[in-house]
Amino acid sequence: MIYLDHNATTPIDPRVFEAMKPYLTEAFGNPSSIYRAGQDVRKAVEDAREHAARLLGAEPREVVFTSGGTESDNTSIKGLALNRGKGHIITSTIEHPAVLKVVEWLEKRGFTATYVPVGSDGVVDPGDIKQAIQPDTIVVSVMHANNEVGTLQPIEQIAAIAHERGVMFHTDAVQTTGKLPIDVKRMGIDLLSLSAHKFYGPKGTGVLYVKRGTKFDPCVHGGHQEWGRRGGTENVAGIVGLGSAVEIAQAEMAAEASRVRVLRDRLEAGLAEHIGDMLFNGSREKRLPNTASVCIKYVEGEAMLLNLDMRHGIAASSGSACTSGSLEPSHVLLAMGIPAEIAHGSLRFSLGRATTREEIDKVIEVLPPIVEKLRSMSAFPRKNS
Ligand code: PLP
Repeated sequence: MIYLDHNATTPIDPRVFEAMKPYLTEAFGNPSSIYRAGQDVRKAVEDAREHAARLLGAEPREVVFTSGGTESDNTSIKGLALNRGKGHIITSTIEHPAVLKVVEWLEKRGFTATYVPVGSDGVVDPGDIKQAIQPDTIVVSVMHANNEVGTLQPIEQIAAIAHERGVMFHTDAVQTTGKLPIDVKRMGIDLLSLSAHKFYGPKGTGVLYVKRGTKFDPCVHGGHQEWGRRGGTENVAGIVGLGSAVEIAQAEMAAEASRVRVLRDRLEAGLAEHIGDMLFNGSREKRLPNTASVCIKYVEGEAMLLNLDMRHGIAASSGSACTSGSLEPSHVLLAMGIPAEIAHGSLRFSLGRATTREEIDKVIEVLPPIVEKLRSMSAFPRKNS
């Protein structure tokens, strides 16, 4: 398989798996137990917390382990909102459903919300955030990088605007942790979500960073774990895996970002040379180094994906989400003003550690004839060619 869907998930790094193994076998103690077998495991959990804190420029006590990005997003926004009881929430139209669905849920329970738009480049204008802030605004939640098109948002500016008005700032950094440096203090982040499986750690493990002193209601009630901020016996192996993935990412991030950027640019140039009527989605400058997102006119993204997969073993993604049996175009592309018929032809290639130049050249070789064949069979009305 040629795997070009690293924004969906990444394989576990073998070094991470090795670090986790003892905690799936002999080191099975409960970290809350006071005897030795528990305390050894507690130490492993706390070491992982320190690694995660260091990655973010945070203090270990500000790190809460969760079941992943979705839970961290839920706890951030719901946790702040429910703690206040009422008020207004600001987010953007291109957030992941783990944020959008929470805000919609809160709206049904009496909270109000503003969904700030993005420009055609997929970037939020901080001025729009400033305009949207109301006296009762509780939190501004804007993602660090978008998962579909890879655009980076001006979160430092947005955080500063929120703070000027005494409003908390949350960012979903699921797509940037392990790919780009983050410093919560310098960037003015009050709450941040990350997920281990996006940077070669295990699935079902994440972190919620919460700035010291922030009042929020936990989403998972139970025991006193995580200082009462998230109940439930810790997912020890997952947490140890997260800690190991963080350490590796910190050491390799800079070199890896440069390497995949070169490959991504090669892919984009190769596709642009051989495929007509193709658009690049999102800002060309403010974006993740590993993500290429395009719309290829007069073809269905899913048809291209099936051909890439079944004929060539290439795994990529389209922007569409399959909802209730009908294929909806991506809400992100629509929010950027891309017409639905063009958004249907979207493809996302997200590169990672194992991606090679040969793999990229294979895509450049096989995709143009697939597009040509599909276009010759296509029922799409063709205006320009
Ligand atoms: N936020 C973003 C931007 C994501 O890309 C994802 C994963 O697709 C999530 C949140 C959800 O993370 P998890 O899969 O850990 O629940």
